[in-house]
Amino acid sequence: MTARPVRASPAADPLWEESLRLFPGGVNSPVRAFRAVGGRPLILTSGRGATVTDVRGDTYLDFIGSWGALILGHAPADVVAAVSAAAQRGMSFGMPTAAEPQLAGLIQSAFPSIERMRFVSSGTEAAMSAMRLARGATGRPRIVKFAGCYHGHSDALLARAGSGVTTLGLPGSAGVTPGAAADTVVLPYNDLTAVRKAFADHGPTIAAVIVEPVAANMGVVSPRPGFLEGLRAVTREAGSLLIFDEVITGFRIAFGGVQGLTGIRPDLTCLGKIAGGGLPLAVYGGRADLMGALAPEGPVYQAGTLSGNPVAVAAGTATLRRLQTGEVYALLEARAALLEAGLIRAAAEAGAICRVVRASSMLTVFFTPEVPQDLAAAERADTERFGRFFRAMLRRGILIPPSQFEAWFVSVAHEPDDISRTVAAASEAFREAA
Ligand SMILES: *Cc1c(COP(=O)(O)O)cnc(C)c1O
Repeated sequence: MTARPVRASPAADPLWEESLRLFPGGVNSPVRAFRAVGGRPLILTSGRGATVTDVRGDTYLDFIGSWGALILGHAPADVVAAVSAAAQRGMSFGMPTAAEPQLAGLIQSAFPSIERMRFVSSGTEAAMSAMRLARGATGRPRIVKFAGCYHGHSDALLARAGSGVTTLGLPGSAGVTPGAAADTVVLPYNDLTAVRKAFADHGPTIAAVIVEPVAANMGVVSPRPGFLEGLRAVTREAGSLLIFDEVITGFRIAFGGVQGLTGIRPDLTCLGKIAGGGLPLAVYGGRADLMGALAPEGPVYQAGTLSGNPVAVAAGTATLRRLQTGEVYALLEARAALLEAGLIRAAAEAGAICRVVRASSMLTVFFTPEVPQDLAAAERADTERFGRFFRAMLRRGILIPPSQFEAWFVSVAHEPDDISRTVAAASEAFREAA
C-alpha cells in the first residue's frame, strides 16, 4: 500500500460529535473510544487486506483485525462471495439449515473435544451459556475464573475481567449485584497453588474452572508449563468441569486451538471471533453427555433468535475452509516471528524498557521490564508510555489496539513489506514514547 501522511485531527469533527451525542463514549464497545490512549477513535469506512480506511480517506495498516476475528484480513474474496451468496438465499430463518452441520463438522475436525455444540451470536453468550450448563449439569454453584481473563460481559464473569475492564481500570462493573458475582471465585492466572487451595476450601461446590488457555485480554500472557495440565487434573479429581474459553485462541494459535497444541481435553470449549469470519457467530460445545443437558433434551435452557444465522454460518464456513489446509499457520508464524524480532530489535536500539510477548500470530508489547505471568504483573506496565507509543504509531499510519492490555493480531494479509514498515515506525515510536 502507499503510505499517506496522516492528517492531524481537525478541531471540530461533526461525525464524531454526533456519535458522542448518540452513543455513550461515542462508541458501541468501550475500548474503541481511545480513552486509554487519548485522542478520538478512527471512524472507518472500509477495510481491504491488512488495511483500513477512515472517513477522511486516510489508510492505516491494521493490527486490530476486528479484535482477532479477521485472520484472513479484511474482506477476503472467498468469504465475501460466500456471505453474499448466503444473504441472497435469505438473511435468517429461525429454523435449521443444511449449512449448520457443515460448519459444525469443520469445527469438530479442529476440536475433537467438541462432540456436540450450539451456535450462538457472541462470545459473551457462549461463555455465559457454558457456565450455566456447567452449573446445571453438575448441580454446583461456584465458578473459578482468573483475574485478567475476559469471558464476555455476563454479570457473573465480569469479576476482575480483562479487556475493557482492565483498560479502563474498572474493578468490575456497576450494576452487577454482589449476589450475581457471589459464586465467582477469582484467582491469579498461572497460580496453581491458589487453585489447589480454592479446591481444598470449596471443591464440592465448584461447577467449573473457566480459563483462557493462552490469555489475550490482559495483553498476551502465556500459561506457565504445567498450569493447564494442573487445572485438568484438579478439576477431574474434584468432579468439576474444565472450560477452555478459546474465543480468541481457537483457530488462531493453531487450527485446533490451545487444546490441539497441548493435547489437553477440556469438558467444554467456547469459540468465537474467527469462527464467525467477521460476522456475529460463536460456539460452545464439548462432552456429549453434558450437551445433552440442554433444552429440549435436558433441563438447561438456552436459545437465540439469530443463533446459527445462515449468513454468519457461511462466513465461518468459508473462513475455516481456508484455515483447514494448515498452510496459513506456517505463513502466520513466519510473519508474526518477523514482527516480533523487528520489534525487539527496534526497542533495544531505542533503549525502550519493554517485553514483546508473542503466542503464534498475536503479540503484546508490554512496557514493563519483565514478562507478565498474571494481571498484577501486566498492570505494572507503563500505560502512559504505551499511550505515547500508540499515538506515535498512529501518526505513522499503523493502527494497533488502543490499549496496553490487548493483543495485536497478524493476519495472512500482512505482507513482509507491511511488517518492515511497522518495525520502521516502531523504531521511531519507541524513541518518541521514551
Ligand atoms: C472476545 C472474547 C469474548 C467475548 O466475545 P464477544 O463476541 O465480544 O462477546 C469472550 N472470551 C474471550 C476469550 C474473548 O477474547
